Amino acid sequence: MTWTPNRRGVLGGLGLTTAATLAPKAFAQSSPRLVIIGGGFGGATVARTLKRLIPNADVTLIEPNETYASCPFSNLVISGDRNLSVQLFRYDALRAEGITLIHTRASDVAPATRQITLSDGAQIAYDRLVLSPGVDMRWNAIEGYDAAAADRLPHAWKAGAQTTLLRNQLHAMENGGLVVMTAPAAPYRCPPGPYERASLIAHYLKTQKPKSKLLILDAKDSFSKMPLFKTAWAREYPEHLEWRGASNDGRISRVETETMTVSTDFEDITAAVINVIPPQKAGAIADAAGVTDATGWCPIDPITFESTRQENIHVIGDATIAAPMPKSAFSANLQGKLCALAITDLLAGRTQQTTILANTCYSYTTPQEAISIVGVYDNAGGAFTIIEGAGGLSPINGSIAIRQAEAAQATAWFNAVTGEAFG
Ligand code: FAD
Repeated sequence: MTWTPNRRGVLGGLGLTTAATLAPKAFAQSSPRLVIIGGGFGGATVARTLKRLIPNADVTLIEPNETYASCPFSNLVISGDRNLSVQLFRYDALRAEGITLIHTRASDVAPATRQITLSDGAQIAYDRLVLSPGVDMRWNAIEGYDAAAADRLPHAWKAGAQTTLLRNQLHAMENGGLVVMTAPAAPYRCPPGPYERASLIAHYLKTQKPKSKLLILDAKDSFSKMPLFKTAWAREYPEHLEWRGASNDGRISRVETETMTVSTDFEDITAAVINVIPPQKAGAIADAAGVTDATGWCPIDPITFESTRQENIHVIGDATIAAPMPKSAFSANLQGKLCALAITDLLAGRTQQTTILANTCYSYTTPQEAISIVGVYDNAGGAFTIIEGAGGLSPINGSIAIRQAEAAQATAWFNAVTGEAFG
């Protein structure tokens, strides 16, 4: 079947359409040089969509790793309910579609000359650049928590070696050991992610190390899907999970790796395993490209995803300021498609159109049960706004059958989104 480049086709997988379809190709430049930095959910999707929409474009994806490790579903790896190998994706399908892969880190971007410098010194020129570098940790925002400390107190907020480290620590821990997790203030990657992780770790403790307990120290007083999580925790883990919000001395200020201690304003807590999820910011290359603002994140035009700070550079995924859209793989994937459409329009001299966007985040509360939140957003009027009443949450008193059906939907979503990005 021939793939026809129109909005209906690109968005169809998500059930979204807009009024107009694209006109036949009429690009100002015959072979535009389109470069993407970051081959995660956003970057891989935008690269593939651009190559499909503009087959004669010179599409290059710069990504240091030959294998991408998916954060979605990595909490199941930590709890021992999933193998890391099924979280790993290669870029062979992208290469087969004619995308040039460069497995090197980009170290600088010069917007004035439209040049990218790679860590080996090579230079790459672009007509349009898309940044999808994800997040970096704000080292030392918590005293004592730097890159070296993460080797002892893993964040596991980038999947791969950190996921394995946290999993191994949990599994090596003695029955009776205390596990502490710290959760940051918003904004950060995957708003419900810490609470899904907490659920699955508590499940592991309940079933494998019943004398142990998980304490969550949170820098905020409320979080995504909180009533749903708290209902599940009360039912499943009353003995194995305790959550402390900011107003209950939950905010941590300091960690010490030698003594395995986490300090709040009033208490020093020693634990057997400490999972620090620190404050975050846009991946460092966004700073180098001059597209971040004082918040550390990237302001963008909500229709084209072009940076409001640098022309010809688009930013998608976690690195953006797109609230109320969450920093999720679902968002990054959709933004990748819409950004590709916008670039196609810009190159062809066509007017940009507004559209409706959506996000669904599933979270496991046990290895067999999940809950979800759906948000629907408008990008008219210069900002993303939530369409009240269009989204929703799982029913608070949903039956086990409903929760199990949501877990099946979560798996279907994971297979679809990884297939679109890498398959
Ligand atoms: P990433 O996927 O992180 O990709 C960024 C890529 O850029 C990386 O491959 C990196 O190597 C590359 N890069 C960075 N800097 C450079 C550079 N200088 N040069 C070249 N390449 C560079 N989302 C969901 O929708 N559903 C879920 O269930 C879900 N679960 C999650 C669970 C956990 C535990 C976590 C931590 C996150 C979860 N997420 C989930 C969130 C999701 O992982 C992110 O939102 C998503 O990965 C964002 O995509 P991205 O393209 O912005 O960044």
